[in-house]
Amino acid sequence: MTDRGTELAENLAKVEARIAGACAAAGRAREEVTLVVVTKTYPASDVRILHELGVREVAENRDQDAAPKAAACQDLSLTWHFVGQLQTNKVRSVAGYADVVQSVDRVRLVSALSAAAVRAERELVCLIQVALDAGSGERGARGGAAPDAIEELAAALADAPGLRPGGLMTVAPLTGPYAGRQQEAFERLLEFSSRLRADHPAANMVSAGMSADLEAAVTAGATHVRVGTAILGDRPRLG
Ligand SMILES: *Cc1c(COP(=O)(O)O)cnc(C)c1O
Repeated sequence: MTDRGTELAENLAKVEARIAGACAAAGRAREEVTLVVVTKTYPASDVRILHELGVREVAENRDQDAAPKAAACQDLSLTWHFVGQLQTNKVRSVAGYADVVQSVDRVRLVSALSAAAVRAERELVCLIQVALDAGSGERGARGGAAPDAIEELAAALADAPGLRPGGLMTVAPLTGPYAGRQQEAFERLLEFSSRLRADHPAANMVSAGMSADLEAAVTAGATHVRVGTAILGDRPRLG
Protein backbone atom coordinates (compact mmCIF):
# COMPACT_ATOMS: atom_id res chain seq x y z
CA MET A 1 0.00 0.00 0.00
CA THR A 2 1.16 3.56 -0.66
CA ASP A 3 2.23 5.84 2.20
CA ARG A 4 -1.04 7.71 1.84
CA GLY A 5 -2.92 4.42 1.97
CA THR A 6 -1.16 3.48 5.20
CA GLU A 7 -1.85 6.90 6.70
CA LEU A 8 -5.55 6.80 5.82
CA ALA A 9 -5.87 3.21 7.08
CA GLU A 10 -4.31 4.15 10.43
CA ASN A 11 -6.44 7.25 10.84
CA LEU A 12 -9.57 5.36 9.86
CA ALA A 13 -8.78 2.67 12.44
CA LYS A 14 -8.36 5.33 15.15
CA VAL A 15 -11.68 6.96 14.30
CA GLU A 16 -13.35 3.55 14.13
CA ALA A 17 -12.00 2.79 17.63
CA ARG A 18 -13.32 6.13 18.92
CA ILE A 19 -16.79 5.44 17.49
CA ALA A 20 -16.80 1.88 18.85
CA GLY A 21 -15.66 3.14 22.27
CA ALA A 22 -18.33 5.83 22.38
CA CYS A 23 -21.02 3.31 21.33
CA ALA A 24 -19.91 0.86 24.03
CA ALA A 25 -19.87 3.60 26.69
CA ALA A 26 -23.36 4.70 25.66
CA GLY A 27 -24.74 1.15 25.51
CA ARG A 28 -25.38 1.49 21.79
CA ALA A 29 -24.68 -1.10 19.10
CA ARG A 30 -21.88 -0.05 16.75
CA GLU A 31 -24.24 -0.60 13.77
CA GLU A 32 -26.43 2.26 15.00
CA VAL A 33 -23.82 4.81 13.92
CA THR A 34 -22.72 5.40 10.32
CA LEU A 35 -19.38 7.04 9.64
CA VAL A 36 -19.51 9.57 6.82
CA VAL A 37 -16.01 10.60 5.73
CA VAL A 38 -15.77 14.27 4.74
CA THR A 39 -13.34 14.34 1.80
CA LYS A 40 -13.61 18.08 1.00
CA THR A 41 -10.37 19.68 -0.25
CA TYR A 42 -8.83 16.21 -0.77
CA PRO A 43 -8.44 14.59 -4.19
CA ALA A 44 -10.44 11.82 -5.84
CA SER A 45 -7.41 9.54 -5.35
CA ASP A 46 -8.02 9.72 -1.57
CA VAL A 47 -11.68 8.83 -2.10
CA ARG A 48 -10.52 5.82 -4.09
CA ILE A 49 -8.18 4.70 -1.27
CA LEU A 50 -10.94 5.17 1.30
CA HIS A 51 -13.24 3.04 -0.83
CA GLU A 52 -10.60 0.29 -0.89
CA LEU A 53 -10.46 0.55 2.89
CA GLY A 54 -14.19 -0.10 3.08
CA VAL A 55 -15.62 3.42 3.28
CA ARG A 56 -18.96 3.70 1.47
CA GLU A 57 -20.25 7.09 2.64
CA VAL A 58 -18.44 10.30 1.73
CA ALA A 59 -19.35 13.97 2.07
CA GLU A 60 -18.45 17.18 0.30
CA ASN A 61 -19.40 20.80 0.97
CA ARG A 62 -18.69 22.68 -2.28
CA ASP A 63 -20.26 21.74 -5.58
CA GLN A 64 -17.28 23.06 -7.61
CA ASP A 65 -15.04 20.43 -5.96
CA ALA A 66 -17.60 17.71 -5.45
CA ALA A 67 -18.98 17.45 -8.99
CA PRO A 68 -15.67 16.54 -10.70
CA LYS A 69 -14.67 14.29 -7.79
CA ALA A 70 -17.93 12.35 -7.93
CA ALA A 71 -17.53 12.04 -11.71
CA ALA A 72 -13.97 10.70 -11.26
CA CYS A 73 -15.30 8.09 -8.80
CA GLN A 74 -18.37 7.06 -10.76
CA ASP A 75 -17.17 3.45 -11.00
CA LEU A 76 -17.14 3.11 -7.19
CA SER A 77 -20.18 2.20 -5.18
CA LEU A 78 -20.42 5.22 -2.87
CA THR A 79 -23.13 7.23 -1.19
CA TRP A 80 -22.40 10.95 -1.67
CA HIS A 81 -23.58 13.38 0.99
CA PHE A 82 -23.70 17.11 0.37
CA VAL A 83 -23.13 18.97 3.65
CA GLY A 84 -22.36 22.56 2.62
CA GLN A 85 -24.40 25.71 2.26
CA LEU A 86 -26.25 25.30 -0.99
CA GLN A 87 -27.16 28.06 -3.47
CA THR A 88 -30.15 27.37 -5.67
CA ASN A 89 -28.03 27.83 -8.83
CA LYS A 90 -25.93 24.80 -7.79
CA VAL A 91 -28.88 22.54 -7.11
CA ARG A 92 -29.08 21.03 -10.58
CA SER A 93 -25.45 19.96 -10.42
CA VAL A 94 -25.73 18.58 -6.88
CA ALA A 95 -28.86 16.58 -7.76
CA GLY A 96 -26.79 14.81 -10.42
CA TYR A 97 -24.47 13.04 -7.97
CA ALA A 98 -25.61 13.55 -4.37
CA ASP A 99 -27.64 10.81 -2.71
CA VAL A 100 -28.18 12.72 0.52
CA VAL A 101 -28.36 16.50 0.95
CA GLN A 102 -27.78 17.26 4.63
CA SER A 103 -28.03 21.04 4.46
CA VAL A 104 -31.64 21.87 3.60
CA ASP A 105 -32.50 25.05 5.48
CA ARG A 106 -35.18 26.93 3.53
CA VAL A 107 -38.36 26.17 1.62
CA ARG A 108 -37.00 27.82 -1.52
CA LEU A 109 -34.24 25.20 -1.55
CA VAL A 110 -36.79 22.39 -1.19
CA SER A 111 -38.61 23.44 -4.35
CA ALA A 112 -35.36 23.88 -6.29
CA LEU A 113 -34.06 20.46 -5.17
CA SER A 114 -37.37 18.83 -5.99
CA ALA A 115 -37.39 20.20 -9.53
CA ALA A 116 -33.78 19.12 -10.05
CA ALA A 117 -34.34 15.63 -8.63
CA VAL A 118 -37.37 15.05 -10.84
CA ARG A 119 -35.46 16.27 -13.88
CA ALA A 120 -32.52 13.98 -13.07
CA GLU A 121 -34.90 11.09 -12.30
CA ARG A 122 -33.26 10.62 -8.93
CA GLU A 123 -34.51 10.49 -5.38
CA LEU A 124 -32.66 12.63 -2.85
CA VAL A 125 -32.77 11.99 0.85
CA CYS A 126 -32.85 15.42 2.49
CA LEU A 127 -31.86 16.32 6.03
CA ILE A 128 -32.94 19.59 7.58
CA GLN A 129 -29.92 21.46 8.89
CA VAL A 130 -30.75 22.98 12.25
CA ALA A 131 -28.85 26.01 13.55
CA LEU A 132 -29.32 25.73 17.30
CA ASP A 133 -28.11 29.32 17.74
CA ALA A 134 -30.52 30.85 15.20
CA GLY A 135 -33.56 32.75 16.46
CA SER A 136 -37.00 32.44 14.91
CA GLY A 137 -36.91 33.44 11.23
CA GLU A 138 -33.10 33.58 11.15
CA ARG A 139 -30.54 31.29 9.58
CA GLY A 140 -27.28 30.22 11.21
CA ALA A 141 -23.94 31.81 10.35
CA ARG A 142 -22.84 28.48 8.91
CA GLY A 143 -26.25 27.75 7.39
CA GLY A 144 -29.13 25.97 9.05
CA ALA A 145 -32.70 26.84 9.89
CA ALA A 146 -33.98 27.99 13.26
CA PRO A 147 -35.50 25.10 15.22
CA ASP A 148 -39.03 26.47 14.83
CA ALA A 149 -38.76 26.03 11.04
CA ILE A 150 -38.27 22.25 11.22
CA GLU A 151 -41.96 21.37 10.97
CA GLU A 152 -42.61 23.51 7.91
CA LEU A 153 -39.49 22.23 6.13
CA ALA A 154 -40.35 18.61 6.92
CA ALA A 155 -43.85 19.06 5.53
CA ALA A 156 -42.43 20.68 2.39
CA LEU A 157 -39.96 17.80 1.93
CA ALA A 158 -42.68 15.19 2.45
CA ASP A 159 -44.79 16.84 -0.28
CA ALA A 160 -41.92 17.39 -2.74
CA PRO A 161 -41.64 14.97 -5.67
CA GLY A 162 -38.17 13.42 -5.89
CA LEU A 163 -37.30 14.21 -2.26
CA ARG A 164 -37.60 12.21 0.95
CA PRO A 165 -37.36 13.74 4.44
CA GLY A 166 -34.43 11.87 6.04
CA GLY A 167 -34.02 13.61 9.39
CA LEU A 168 -31.89 16.33 10.95
CA MET A 169 -28.33 17.59 10.81
CA THR A 170 -26.46 20.10 12.93
CA VAL A 171 -23.03 21.60 13.40
CA ALA A 172 -22.29 22.41 17.06
CA PRO A 173 -22.68 26.20 17.39
CA LEU A 174 -19.62 28.38 18.03
CA THR A 175 -21.74 31.18 19.47
CA GLY A 176 -24.85 31.53 21.59
CA PRO A 177 -25.94 29.47 24.58
CA TYR A 178 -24.62 26.19 23.14
CA ALA A 179 -21.10 27.44 22.37
CA GLY A 180 -18.64 24.94 23.85
CA ARG A 181 -21.49 22.70 25.03
CA GLN A 182 -21.60 20.10 22.27
CA GLN A 183 -23.23 17.45 24.43
CA GLU A 184 -26.19 19.68 25.29
CA ALA A 185 -26.41 20.89 21.69
CA PHE A 186 -26.61 17.34 20.35
CA GLU A 187 -29.10 16.30 23.02
CA ARG A 188 -31.29 19.22 21.98
CA LEU A 189 -31.07 18.05 18.35
CA LEU A 190 -32.21 14.58 19.48
CA GLU A 191 -35.27 16.16 21.14
CA PHE A 192 -36.14 17.88 17.86
CA SER A 193 -35.60 14.56 16.09
CA SER A 194 -38.03 12.73 18.33
CA ARG A 195 -40.67 15.41 17.67
CA LEU A 196 -40.02 15.15 13.93
CA ARG A 197 -40.33 11.36 13.98
CA ALA A 198 -43.79 11.63 15.55
CA ASP A 199 -45.04 13.06 12.23
CA HIS A 200 -42.44 11.54 9.87
CA PRO A 201 -41.37 8.17 11.33
CA ALA A 202 -38.98 7.41 8.46
CA ALA A 203 -37.07 10.67 8.98
CA ASN A 204 -34.88 9.02 11.60
CA MET A 205 -31.39 10.12 10.62
CA VAL A 206 -29.55 12.38 13.07
CA SER A 207 -26.29 13.72 11.66
CA ALA A 208 -24.11 15.34 14.30
CA GLY A 209 -20.52 15.26 15.43
CA MET A 210 -17.26 15.88 13.59
CA SER A 211 -13.60 15.05 14.29
CA ALA A 212 -13.49 16.99 17.55
CA ASP A 213 -16.84 16.04 19.06
CA LEU A 214 -17.98 12.72 17.60
CA GLU A 215 -18.11 11.06 21.04
CA ALA A 216 -20.59 13.67 22.30
CA ALA A 217 -22.75 13.05 19.24
CA VAL A 218 -22.70 9.26 19.66
CA THR A 219 -23.55 9.65 23.36
CA ALA A 220 -26.48 11.90 22.50
CA GLY A 221 -27.85 9.38 20.00
CA ALA A 222 -26.60 10.51 16.59
CA THR A 223 -27.01 8.02 13.74
CA HIS A 224 -24.39 9.66 11.49
CA VAL A 225 -21.07 11.30 12.32
CA ARG A 226 -19.21 13.39 9.72
CA VAL A 227 -15.47 13.11 10.09
CA GLY A 228 -12.89 14.91 7.95
CA THR A 229 -9.58 16.01 9.48
CA ALA A 230 -9.22 13.06 11.89
CA ILE A 231 -9.05 10.77 8.85
CA LEU A 232 -7.64 12.87 5.99
CA GLY A 233 -5.48 15.32 7.95
CA ASP A 234 -5.62 19.07 8.53
CA ARG A 235 -7.06 20.98 5.61
CA PRO A 236 -5.34 24.02 4.21
CA ARG A 237 -7.33 27.05 5.40
CA LEU A 238 -9.72 28.20 2.71
CA GLY A 239 -10.41 31.51 4.48
C1 LIG B 1 -15.88 19.94 7.16
C2 LIG B 1 -17.16 19.48 7.75
C3 LIG B 1 -17.19 18.39 8.62
C4 LIG B 1 -15.94 17.63 9.07
O1 LIG B 1 -15.23 18.42 9.97
P1 LIG B 1 -13.86 17.87 10.63
O2 LIG B 1 -13.65 18.77 11.76
O3 LIG B 1 -12.84 18.00 9.55
O4 LIG B 1 -14.07 16.47 11.01
C5 LIG B 1 -18.42 17.97 9.11
N1 LIG B 1 -19.56 18.61 8.78
C6 LIG B 1 -19.57 19.66 7.94
C7 LIG B 1 -20.87 20.31 7.63
C8 LIG B 1 -18.38 20.14 7.40
O5 LIG B 1 -18.40 21.19 6.58
